Amino acid sequence: MNETIRQNLHTHSTFDDGKSSMEEMAQSAIAKGFTALGFSGHSPNPIDTCSMSMEGMNDYLETFRFLKEKYKDQIALYCGIELDSLSDIDLSPFAYIIGSIHYLNTPSGQVAIDESRETFDHLLHDIYSGDIQKLTADYYAALIDMIRSRDFDILGHIDLISKYNEDETYFSFTADWYLEQARKAIDAGIEKGVIFEMNTGAISRGYRTMPYPHASLLDYMAKKDAKLCINTDCHNAIALDQSMNQALALAKRAGITDLYALSEDGFSPVSIDSFVGELN
Ligand SMILES: [Zn+2]
Ligand SMILES: [Zn+2]
Repeated sequence: MNETIRQNLHTHSTFDDGKSSMEEMAQSAIAKGFTALGFSGHSPNPIDTCSMSMEGMNDYLETFRFLKEKYKDQIALYCGIELDSLSDIDLSPFAYIIGSIHYLNTPSGQVAIDESRETFDHLLHDIYSGDIQKLTADYYAALIDMIRSRDFDILGHIDLISKYNEDETYFSFTADWYLEQARKAIDAGIEKGVIFEMNTGAISRGYRTMPYPHASLLDYMAKKDAKLCINTDCHNAIALDQSMNQALALAKRAGITDLYALSEDGFSPVSIDSFVGELN
């Protein structure tokens, strides 16, 4: 008999920039029929007001231990962390790590790529003189550097640089130069053995109608047998299962046969047919 898996390993709470408490997230996950929920608060980064403080991170771990015990008969809870490339902390307390780039080092200091369209336009026009190819090249180079120099399990939202580009305002998703840059990062991730995520986070926040990665990259990942999982990167309990059925359908259409599931023994591939999305 095939076990059904409803899993989300990329979630935020009031310990960082989320709107729901960890307990509200756990209760919502149980109500929505999740079998596994992972917390992934933003790792402490002094310039990032969305990240946890060092003290907050200790409370986060303590709260997790309390909730894991309290709900142990109803759901498998895991404590992970979303490690920003510019954050340097002890990662040993965490069951898994999501590695993400949110900032680029520029001559004007560290600038966020996903904070707002205004910040992105500032980055592109004032710092990169409108050169979108150079901006995306620096983003993917930073991603490759993180893949090679840091240890983590899941690569967060690989094409976050396209957050405001769903309508191709800034570049075409099928431009040769773009595909070449992004595919190099995918190749580096495959070589390192990381799990890529399909991430629906920008859908609930109204920036996109489709998950990361774009179909042009997902097809390449499927062809290359990249490891994949589906997460919603949600910042409140309602969006815990945001567009998961859509992501599952896109993965199947791309030819993906397995997704990675987390258990107490770590990550392992499971047939995509065992995974379910949001309740209808
Ligand atoms: Zn992120
Ligand atoms: Zn996140």
